[in-house]
Amino acid sequence: MKAVVFDHHGGIEVLQYRDDLPIPEISPNEVLIEIKASALNYNDLWGREGVPGLEIIFPHINGTDASGIIKEVGSEVTNVKPGDEILVNGALSCGMCRQCLGGDDISCPNFLVWGFQTGPNDGAQADYAKVPAVNVVPKPANLSWEGAAAIGSALVTDWRMLVVKAGMKAGDLVMIWGAAGGLGSIAVQLCQAFNAIPIAIVNSEEKAELVSNLGVKHIINREKERISRKIQKLTDREGVDIVFEHPGNATWETSIHCLKWGGTLVTCGATTGFKTTMDIRFLWNKQQRYIGSHFGTTAELMDALKFVENGMIKPVINCELPLSDIAEGHRIMESGDVMGKVVMLPD
Ligand SMILES: [Zn+2]
Repeated sequence: MKAVVFDHHGGIEVLQYRDDLPIPEISPNEVLIEIKASALNYNDLWGREGVPGLEIIFPHINGTDASGIIKEVGSEVTNVKPGDEILVNGALSCGMCRQCLGGDDISCPNFLVWGFQTGPNDGAQADYAKVPAVNVVPKPANLSWEGAAAIGSALVTDWRMLVVKAGMKAGDLVMIWGAAGGLGSIAVQLCQAFNAIPIAIVNSEEKAELVSNLGVKHIINREKERISRKIQKLTDREGVDIVFEHPGNATWETSIHCLKWGGTLVTCGATTGFKTTMDIRFLWNKQQRYIGSHFGTTAELMDALKFVENGMIKPVINCELPLSDIAEGHRIMESGDVMGKVVMLPD
């Protein structure tokens, strides 16, 4: 099969497009998928470059988001059959430990992000891929292959952050960093679906236009306006109910400043840096809550997809590229100028 593979860390030049890789062999609880589309995430860059303290298994095929057709099912699989159209939840857990049995799959000690921590040769950027059967869900009929690949991990991550962890409710003011990006563009729609009020932070007029087209009324272009002053004005000096964090170091302090007394900051990442400083008076005196969230369970993805099926949340696609042009996809992601998701299509 064809796939993009690399056998050591480095720049874009380590990505090899090859046509001589074996089709994965499935075990009794797995399914083989003919990939119709995959989508890029920041973990594709981290997998290629390497992350301190995290082992990447070589040879490595990146890719955590995929849509496709079930080609083959293992002997113990009952939830899908060959020919079914699916998308993948790339959050892999053992299904057998105390945490998994309690429904807390993401706290599983054996938790792995598919196409990032798995391997060798186990990810979405290929013609075929295998995953546990419990990690595929039916593709909503109103989504294209491209849309289904684009929405999976962003949707489930946002759902877990805002709905499950932060307890977002109608009327909440939610400040969203990177509102035109892969995560942010879904997060603003999720706010709207819950009758919460998104405040979109962007860094260009082009991105402001994208979120405006999604129906967002409160947009702050951080290149032109001081965020904390604008938030004070928008919230009558009270601050927002929820901050949707993921940049980390570059935004953390502003996030805390913009949060109201008793407000909730929820984060799923740190694309600008893992280490930061903070004034802990905000934690005890203002009684703010800072909570972490990671990916989401397959059940959470199923819950969230109902909002896609009824048209309330739509995928946002930056561009579609052939898999052989993966280097261009990485360049777009690295530029930081990505709006929505970069989708890769098998050649
Ligand atoms: Zn487990």
